[in-house]
Amino acid sequence: MSYQRPKGTADILPGVSNKWQFVEETARLLFHDYQFDEIRTPIFEHHEVISRSVGDTTDIVSKEMYEFYDKGNRHLTLRPEGTAPIARAFVENKLFGPEFSKPYKTYYMEPMFRYERPQAGRMRQFHQLGAEVFGSKNPATDVETMAMAMAFYEQLGIKHIKLVINSLGDKESRAAYRQALIDHLEPHFDELSRESQIRLHKNPLRVLDSKEKADQPFVETAPSILDYLNEESQQHFDTVCQMLEELTIDYTIDHTMVRGLDYYNDTIFEIMSNAPGFGGAITTICAGGRYDHLIEELGGPETPAFGFGMGLERLLITLEAENIEIPVPNTIDVYVVGLGEETNVETLKLVQSIRSFGFSADRDFMNRKAKAQFKSANKENARLVLTLGTAELETKTANIKVMQTGKEETLHLEDVYEKFDQVYDKLVSE
Ligand code: ATP
Ligand code: MG
Repeated sequence: MSYQRPKGTADILPGVSNKWQFVEETARLLFHDYQFDEIRTPIFEHHEVISRSVGDTTDIVSKEMYEFYDKGNRHLTLRPEGTAPIARAFVENKLFGPEFSKPYKTYYMEPMFRYERPQAGRMRQFHQLGAEVFGSKNPATDVETMAMAMAFYEQLGIKHIKLVINSLGDKESRAAYRQALIDHLEPHFDELSRESQIRLHKNPLRVLDSKEKADQPFVETAPSILDYLNEESQQHFDTVCQMLEELTIDYTIDHTMVRGLDYYNDTIFEIMSNAPGFGGAITTICAGGRYDHLIEELGGPETPAFGFGMGLERLLITLEAENIEIPVPNTIDVYVVGLGEETNVETLKLVQSIRSFGFSADRDFMNRKAKAQFKSANKENARLVLTLGTAELETKTANIKVMQTGKEETLHLEDVYEKFDQVYDKLVSE
C-alpha cells in the first residue's frame, strides 16, 4: 500500500522551497519598508466568520469551502482567504484601541484552502501573501497598498504585469447600480445561466463575475457601475486615479470587474500577468480592494479598510514564465573530511565548533573513503576543506585547503576551537 498526497496539494521539496524562501524574504523586507507587521491566524475558523464576510452567494462560500463539524459539533472551515480571519482577529483583539498605530498595517503569508478543480495555478491548498490596512479612508492608502504590491513584483523582476482597477461605489451608489443591473438583466432572465438566475435578485453584481458562457453577452452589455457613483465615491475614485498617475503607475479601468467576494466597496483592483508561458491566458496574480464595512459587520467599530491577496503558486509560475532566475545559496564555508572511524568524534566536535563561530559546515556520516568525501566537498562548493586523519588526530592538527587557490597548511585543532573566525578570515583573505 502506498499513499499519495490529497488532490490539489503539493509537496514543496528542497530545491523548490528555497524559491519560496526567496520570495518570502523579499516580501518581508519590502513590506517592512512600508511598515507592515506580520499577523498569523488559525488555519480554521468558525464557518460563520467566512460566510458572513465573504458572502453566502459567492463561489468561495457556496462551492469551494472545506467545512466540517468538530467533535464538539462546532461548524468550522479551513480558511479560504485571509481577510475575513484577520478582520475577525482585528475585532477580537481590539486592534482599533488607542495603543495601536493608525492606520493598522499588517501582512500574512499563509496556506488557504478551496475545493476547486485543480489545474496550473489552481490548487486546493494554495498560499497567499496578503496585506491589510485598517482605519484609513484616505485614497492614498488605496494607492500606497496597490503600489506596494506592484513594487513587490517589480523587485522580483516581473515585467509583464498589468494593474486593472474599478470602483464598486459606496452603499448608496451600489443600490442605484443594483437596480439598473436588475433592469438590464431581467428581460433576459430565460437566457441566463441557472446560477445567474438565482443570483439576479439575491446579489445581481455576482452575475458580472459569472464564468458561464451563457451570461457573457449580458455581462458585456451591462451598464457601467462608474456611471452610478455618487459624488463621494466619484471623488474617491478620481483621487485614486490621479495619485496612480502621480506615481507613474500604469493602470487600466475595467468597469465589469466586481471581484469574487462580497465585502468590497469603492476601489477594487487586480494585477494580471500575461507572461509568456501562461499559454496566452491572462491570469490574476493579485487581487484586492477597499472594504469599509466588514469590521462593523463582524461586531467592531466603524473602520474603513483596504487590502489584497496574491497567490504565491501563480507568482512562482510567473517567475518561471519570465525566466527569472532565483538566487540559490549553494556554497558552504567548510567541509570537514574525517578519515577512519577514530576521527568520528573529533569530526563532530570540529563541525560544531565551526558552526558556533557562525560559519556553515558539513561532514561525512557514511564512513566514506577520502575520494568520495572530497567529491562531496566539491559538490557543496566548500570554500575550505579541513582534513583529519588518524595521524593528525595524534598530533592534534588538521590539514586545511583553500579551494579557490589550492593553498594548503597545517592547523592546530586548538585554533579551530578557540578562534576559528580569525583562522577563516586569514585564510580566505590571503
Ligand atoms: P480566480 O478568479 O482565479 O478563481 P479569485 O477571484 O477566486 O481567483 P481571490 O479570492 O481574489 O481569487 O484570491 C486572490 C489570489 O489568490 C488570486 O488572484 C490568485 O492569485 C490566488 N488564488 C485564488 N484561488 C487560488 C487557487 N485555488 N489556487 C492558487 N491560487 C489561487
Ligand atoms: Mg476563485
